[in-house]
Amino acid sequence: MRTDLSASEALALVLAETRLLATERVDVRAALGRVLAEEIVSGRRLPPADNSAMDGYAVRRADLAAASRERPVELRVAFDVPAGGAAPASLGTGEAARILTGAPLPAGADAVVRQEDASRSGDRVRIPLCPEPRESIRDAGEDVEIGARVLEPGCVLGPAHAGLLASLGRSVVAVHQRPRVAILSSGDELVEPDGDVAGGRIVSSNSYTLAAQCREEGAEPVYLGIAGDTPEDLEARFRGGLRADVIVSSAGVSVGDRDHVRDVLAKLGCELRFWGVRIKPGYPLAFGRLAGDAGALVFGLPGNPVSAMVTFEQFVRPALRKMAGQRSLFRPLVRARLGERISKKPGRLHFVRVELSRQGDAIVATSTGNQSSGVLTSMVRGHGLLIFPAESHELRAGDEASVQVLDAAFLASQEPGF
Ligand code: AMP
Ligand code: MG
Repeated sequence: MRTDLSASEALALVLAETRLLATERVDVRAALGRVLAEEIVSGRRLPPADNSAMDGYAVRRADLAAASRERPVELRVAFDVPAGGAAPASLGTGEAARILTGAPLPAGADAVVRQEDASRSGDRVRIPLCPEPRESIRDAGEDVEIGARVLEPGCVLGPAHAGLLASLGRSVVAVHQRPRVAILSSGDELVEPDGDVAGGRIVSSNSYTLAAQCREEGAEPVYLGIAGDTPEDLEARFRGGLRADVIVSSAGVSVGDRDHVRDVLAKLGCELRFWGVRIKPGYPLAFGRLAGDAGALVFGLPGNPVSAMVTFEQFVRPALRKMAGQRSLFRPLVRARLGERISKKPGRLHFVRVELSRQGDAIVATSTGNQSSGVLTSMVRGHGLLIFPAESHELRAGDEASVQVLDAAFLASQEPGF
């Protein structure tokens, strides 16, 4: 087991142990946010045929070369092309076809004149202009050609993907399974939210934050409850999670007398890969994997509410994304300008909770204030985690730093922007 690692060494070890989950087939309607596990190659052209973008008249431009407002050209309306009808007849010289939006273009036609621009009388239509070549025509295959690779494995399915898959005739697709994450809290002082908090007991808020962080990622949290600080209770609770893809426990991984998590994990066949990462908050972080090819990843997160959330962000979330097949493993990263000076001792990388705001073209980061690892309101108020590099001891007002964006609410707008 390694100890006292840098954040990047720890992350590399986590990702090296993270295996891709199996795939399953799901209805496209229920696939929002899932990660595609197959390549989608189009067997169709979209649109399938040249068709009209307007209600109007399909015409041959050559017939209208001399048309003007003063001298409209009269064409004979030879036939109608309804949307969804059979392949239309072809257009002869001096003829127009009445056509509806989406209806296939008759052979011979090379433009559509909008209904508003034409005046109809019986089987005649007067047209006062010559349209541009292919005006108001949607070309066959302009969206997708046969054989086009339209979606790559690893892409996260959004609303447009769902519509595109449906257009290609796919109502079921292969996606990666959602990671199942067993969540365990430990500590004799912990109670559930409806419990009695007399005598210094505290609510196990980590069960709530960690489950919600899993859900944000499309993972399925399975709650294992609160284990007391005895090896027996811890072992019994951990056993409930042995079939999950990931086990996330919080607290009990420090060096205190009652910190039995490491011993219990060893007994359950979990070989710890590391303990202790040079970050703040979150130093006492343990990571390992249960024996066997499909052995769950095990994260022993620190107990303090902010430490648990921050270490989840840095190490658990990228692992969940990797096992679910996502190509992008990390939160959006922005460069922000410090709104004030911050300082620390060199040695550990700090994740500073910051509020972000837009000032002109720049994004400005200001500390949420008290950075104690128990101050959960700082995570509520903060929009991101500013990376204060390990060896640096000071960032001055106006300096630039990278910020992991956890909450894009600072970009929210009261205006539509148009
Ligand atoms: P420990 O890692 O056991 O030393 O815990 C560190 C701190 O985190 C203590 O103040 C605990 O009370 C607190 N803590 C531990 N587990 C939780 C939890 N599930 N929810 C909220 N706070 C916790
Ligand atoms: Mg404890």
